[in-house]
Amino acid sequence: MAPPVTRILPVSPEAIAEAARLIEAGQPVAVPTETVYGLAADATNGEAVARIYAAKGRPSFNPLIVHVSDLAAAKRIGAFDNAARELAAEHWPGPLTLVVPIRPGAGIASLVTAGLETVALRVPAHPAMQALLAQTRKPLAAPSANTSGSISPTRAEHVAASLGGRISLILDGGPCERGIESTIIAATGGALRLLRRGPLQIDAVEAPGDIIEAPGQLASHYAPSKPLRLDATEALPSEYLIGFGPVAGRSSLSATGNPIEAAARLFDLLHTADAAPEPRIAVAPIPGEGIAAAIRDRLTRAAAPR
Ligand code: AMP
Ligand code: MG
Repeated sequence: MAPPVTRILPVSPEAIAEAARLIEAGQPVAVPTETVYGLAADATNGEAVARIYAAKGRPSFNPLIVHVSDLAAAKRIGAFDNAARELAAEHWPGPLTLVVPIRPGAGIASLVTAGLETVALRVPAHPAMQALLAQTRKPLAAPSANTSGSISPTRAEHVAASLGGRISLILDGGPCERGIESTIIAATGGALRLLRRGPLQIDAVEAPGDIIEAPGQLASHYAPSKPLRLDATEALPSEYLIGFGPVAGRSSLSATGNPIEAAARLFDLLHTADAAPEPRIAVAPIPGEGIAAAIRDRLTRAAAPR
């Protein structure tokens, strides 16, 4: 596919409508928020979420923040206890992300949570992101709009320098007000835990040394409970084989060898294999660079002895 020509449009009703059209077509769009520019895609569409990773060139899958228009929309996706509700009521819309248990059947693609049973939710304050949420009526997964390893973009020009030629639209809303990523708090096990420091000072969790789960660390990553063998071209009798391309398997990440489709199905099939009667999982080779390499990275970690 030819690389997209990246348009930069100042935020306007027409530009929001164009962004919504792209989101509905499964494409990621760069959008200003009050923290940093996000690369937003429909969180209910696994292939759209896979295209975020492809554009960013992220070497692995981390759970993404899901942006919604208000607390009511957040509650349809996640289960809020009293403490989470209070924080949301106090700080939303704003630069606070809450990690809460996901509601089964909420429709969020498993690639968004990287297979976890929790989901990170935020109600952004920025009018452009709010307008896009209203127009699409979709929850939007959005990590920072930069290629992997570069610093977070706080202006449309930063996004263009990093993702130009990789995405088709950047909404230009000027510089971001906060310029740093949201504060992340988990409200999952009855207690609040600070996962990432950010623009908000939240007394309930801000004691020094309180960060228990640094972002991106193993504790926040799903791995199947069964042993996993990589690069398998056929199944041993004890194995549930996840196929790809020419290796059929019991079920396939992508029969046509399409890595975007494979990324979208990865965590669903790992869960399926984990629940199957076979005591072991095997996965076909996933050749290629970019998103295929991100899939291999995830599988290699899942295969590592624990
Ligand atoms: P970014 O979208 O790039 O700002 O990063 C999102 C951050 O949220 C990452 O550091 C993730 O580790 C964290 N995060 C998202 N979802 C979860 C979750 N379900 N559990 C724990 N951390 C999460
Ligand atoms: Mg980032």
